[in-house]
Amino acid sequence: MDEPRHMTPDEFRRCGAALIERIARYMEEVEQYPVLSQAEPGSVRARLPSAAPEQGEPFADLLRDIDEIILPGLTHWQSPNFYAYFPANASGPSILGDLLSSGLGVQGMLWATSPACTELETHVLDWLVDLLGLPQEFKSSAAGGGVIQDSASSSTLTALIAARERASAGAVNEHGAARGPDGAKEPRLTVYTSRHAHSSIEKGVKIAGLGRENLRLVEADECHAMRVDALEAAIAADRAAGAVPAMVCATVGTTSSGAVDPLPAIGALCRREGIWLHVDAAHAGSATICPEHRELIDGLEHADSYTFNPHKWLLTNFDCSCFWVADRAALIEALSVLPEYLRNRATESGAVIDYRDWQIPLGRRFRALKLWFVIRHYGAEGLRAHVRNCVALADWFAAQVEAHDAFALAAPVSAGLVCFRHRAGDALNEALMNRLNESGALYLTHTRLDDRLVLRLAVGGTATRRAHVERAWARIVETAGALSAEEFAA
Ligand SMILES: *Cc1c(COP(=O)(O)O)cnc(C)c1O
Repeated sequence: MDEPRHMTPDEFRRCGAALIERIARYMEEVEQYPVLSQAEPGSVRARLPSAAPEQGEPFADLLRDIDEIILPGLTHWQSPNFYAYFPANASGPSILGDLLSSGLGVQGMLWATSPACTELETHVLDWLVDLLGLPQEFKSSAAGGGVIQDSASSSTLTALIAARERASAGAVNEHGAARGPDGAKEPRLTVYTSRHAHSSIEKGVKIAGLGRENLRLVEADECHAMRVDALEAAIAADRAAGAVPAMVCATVGTTSSGAVDPLPAIGALCRREGIWLHVDAAHAGSATICPEHRELIDGLEHADSYTFNPHKWLLTNFDCSCFWVADRAALIEALSVLPEYLRNRATESGAVIDYRDWQIPLGRRFRALKLWFVIRHYGAEGLRAHVRNCVALADWFAAQVEAHDAFALAAPVSAGLVCFRHRAGDALNEALMNRLNESGALYLTHTRLDDRLVLRLAVGGTATRRAHVERAWARIVETAGALSAEEFAA
């Protein structure tokens, strides 16, 4: 039998140096690529061989295919001209931290499977409680604690399961949630969120087996924030019908328009009613590293759990979603199972955190490394400077929109997100977006607000500077002018 042909440490050193060089060049060149990939469906696969190679290939061939096949099939999320969705920004220290995580190849499911993996994560999440101005109850030194999940969707699902068990006094875990439409023995559990909340809430409700018909999409006000009177009425109606309200999910910075649900009033209501309050600040949460944006989380002291994504706006590569709970016992009770093969003395001593009980999967990567690298490289000051740069650029863009006769803001500017539209109506806005995106010069996406198509410009790129946003605005005005003239000519 042949010996396996592993890459030797020396080969790794040389290939690794070449790859780092390639990434550095990508950082220098990313601005030159069309932001939105111009690839046709199937065009990437058409260039790949139909069968996997029988013999190993040189690393140089791989690098060549990265340039020739992969790069043309990319949408360049790290381009300074990327304004679509929300950012998924990256940074040098984060890439290196992620590489180190791969290099160490650690699996951190239990404290005992790598104590540093767990303790660094707990520690960095405690740091972030202070850096972001979060309630002290979220600290591991209090009754709470933080954990890194792969995504806000997972954070919210985890919160839902903990809330489900609290509301059902452990009954769903024990007996299951499945029951017929009218053969209910146990009370139905209900969940509340605004009609502008992220789709991950509905997905979580489905996965947690609560049933979509038990999710209430609460009406919003003219700023697209949850109406507390409507929430209160929905809770009262469900209680009157014999249901048990299990969770309210409030949003700080909706995906559509950046709307902020009124946490102080929602929190007070949840406290009175004994309902789990989860707060989803996936994008906007990064902003509270600046004291001037802390009002976004006024009222968070009433929350049972909170999530935000450093992998969106805080210079940390996907995937990294931070999740805190005020009462870790509720979470662990809901998710803990202990098979014989995972028993160990550290777990039994009760003196350690086993993060497998804080998430859906068992296994976990050493994600805290990249976050630790980012925080140490930039310092709190550097992270604040990044957020302030983006917010100032969004404010500048919004001021241009307001000053222009043909354009209008469609929502209050929120945490680097500008929602705006051309006054000529949906057809022109859609044509404008498509033409801008096809040009490759920039990339932005849309939403619907008050039944009108609205363009979204989310400023959050690591390399986005004033000159990029100025060029984006000039391009938007010029393209809109050309479209209006074409329509006039037609
Ligand atoms: C992006 C976003 C999510 C989903 O984030 P993932 O980490 O991709 O699951 C959830 N909620 C809000 C408000 C978001 O903006």
